[in-house]
Amino acid sequence: MFKDRIYNFNPGPATLPLPVLEEAQKEFLNFAGSGMSILEISHRAKAYDEVHQKAKADVKELMGLGDDYEVLFCQGGASQQFAMIPMNFATKEKPGNYVLSGSFATKAYQEAEILGVGEVAASSKDVNFKHIPTQDELKINPNAAYLHLCYNNTIYGTEFHYIPETNGVPLFADMSSDMLSRPIDFKKFDFIYAGVQKNLGPAGVVLVVAKKSLVEKSPKSLPTMLRYETFFKKDSLYNTPPAFCIYMVGKVAAWIKDNGGLAAMEKRNREKAKILYDAIDSSGGFYKGHADKDSRSLMNVTFRLPSEDLEKKFVAEALEEGLSGVKGHRSVGGMRASIYNAMPIEGAEKLASFMAEFKKKN
Ligand SMILES: *Cc1c(COP(=O)(O)O)cnc(C)c1O
Repeated sequence: MFKDRIYNFNPGPATLPLPVLEEAQKEFLNFAGSGMSILEISHRAKAYDEVHQKAKADVKELMGLGDDYEVLFCQGGASQQFAMIPMNFATKEKPGNYVLSGSFATKAYQEAEILGVGEVAASSKDVNFKHIPTQDELKINPNAAYLHLCYNNTIYGTEFHYIPETNGVPLFADMSSDMLSRPIDFKKFDFIYAGVQKNLGPAGVVLVVAKKSLVEKSPKSLPTMLRYETFFKKDSLYNTPPAFCIYMVGKVAAWIKDNGGLAAMEKRNREKAKILYDAIDSSGGFYKGHADKDSRSLMNVTFRLPSEDLEKKFVAEALEEGLSGVKGHRSVGGMRASIYNAMPIEGAEKLASFMAEFKKKN
């Protein structure tokens, strides 16, 4: 249907930087002079190890973190982290505390609940997750093993714009959909993870960046692959890692570095978000944003139209214009434009002018 690449607003798997895809294509049949592709080479090969170490180092450099943090590559998606975190860190005496700010935040809490070690520190469910709970709304158990946040709520289109003060309780965050999208004081966090298929690569690997002191030792009662200690001690090479995904994460991290780092990403991401939120706010009520203004996400812009019929029409006509993946999640309805690092500013501009045009015609 399309002869060329389109603007892909899907929430994840999501758009990747074109230069990264082109580089991977160029290297595909003969990776690092091995005469094999990265899909075929041993994960114990020296050429692969260089990729593995460089990806880890670049991620840590971008985050401004030192030797007290470790980068791990896990599997099972961010969803498996929802279970591994309480298994490794929480107990009935020291429960995990959760801020329920959306669907994934709630799913994370539910895994802790299955284990009987979860507590809710705050929730914005009563307002359909339109806003991020404020510092004043957080009721953190001083004895908690951690406070878990979902930093960007992919489905509802809300994002934390502050780092909670926890008074010594370790701070954990699911940053699946905003990892490396802007400079954050990452040192204030003890444990960060991200399913990479939103902003950092293809589906298949989860990036974990955590304090060494947290992952160097895990409860012996847990099976091997559910212990962070296994990943730490074996440098995420205890079993066969998803080598291609890690290679792609490394390429995306290098692309971010080459393009000005996190500060430059933030500048572009703010510009794109402004273009789309302005299109919503200046529509005289035709488009209605889901998120409260102070909680708006820079990554996922959610909005509704006056009727579901118009929403269907919007999705169909947008696609004809080469604007793909703008349909929202069923729990919010309406539209969602995901504008991760790799989405060019022209993509946001094209969507905004389509929105203005569509409003005029309807
Ligand atoms: C997509 C997403 C998840 C789920 O990730 P999987 O890798 O599919 O398990 C979790 N948290 C957030 C914030 C997400 O956007």
